[in-house]
Amino acid sequence: MQTVLGCFQERLAYSEEPMEDLAGKKMKKKCTKCGEVKSSTAYYGKKTKETHCKTCTNARVKKYALTERGYLNKKYRDMIRKDSKKHSASGRHFTFEEFLAAFEKHKSIYGMRSAWGPGVDNIEQHLPITTIVTFDPDKKAKRISSNLSVDRLNPSGEYTLQNIIFIRGDENSRKKDTTYNDCLIHIKLYEERYGTDDLE
Ligand SMILES: [Zn+2]
Repeated sequence: MQTVLGCFQERLAYSEEPMEDLAGKKMKKKCTKCGEVKSSTAYYGKKTKETHCKTCTNARVKKYALTERGYLNKKYRDMIRKDSKKHSASGRHFTFEEFLAAFEKHKSIYGMRSAWGPGVDNIEQHLPITTIVTFDPDKKAKRISSNLSVDRLNPSGEYTLQNIIFIRGDENSRKKDTTYNDCLIHIKLYEERYGTDDLE
C-alpha cells in the first residue's frame, strides 16, 4: 500500500494546496464516488479537478494494485526505473501494452508457470508463479518467493522484449547476475568433476 500510494502521492503533491473561495474560507466539495461532502484537504487534486476524495482514490489505487494488471504495472515501472538509473542515455523503452502482450505470450506457452525449467514438454517441472501483493509497510518484510519477477537473460543488457523473461522471485535471486559465459563455465566445471552420466 505504502509504495503504491507513495508514487501516486508524489505525482500529485505539487498541486496539493487548499482551495479557498474569495472570502478565504476553505471550500467543501462532494466526492462523486462516495457522495460525502468533504473539505478540500480531503482531496489530492487541485481546485475542482479531482472529483474523488483521498479515501476513494486510495481504495481505487489499492484495488488496482491487487489485480494482475496492477501487479504488472508496478513491475513495468520498476523496470523502467532500474533501466534509467543504469542507462541514462538509453533509447525508448517498450510500452506497458507491449509488456502486457509479452506476458500474454508467456502465458500462452507456460500458463502461470515460470519460464525457468526444462521446457514445455516437461511443464510440470516449471514452478507456478504468483502475483500476490501484501501492502506490507515493512520494506524488509520477506518477499513472496513464488511471485513473478522480470529477469534479463543478458544481465548487462537493457530490459528489451528480446531480453526479458518471466520467472519467480526465488529463481531470480538464485540466478542473480549469472551470464551466458558463467553458465558455460559452470557446466564445464561440473562435467569435469561429475561427468555427464548422472545427469537426467
Ligand atoms: Zn469519496
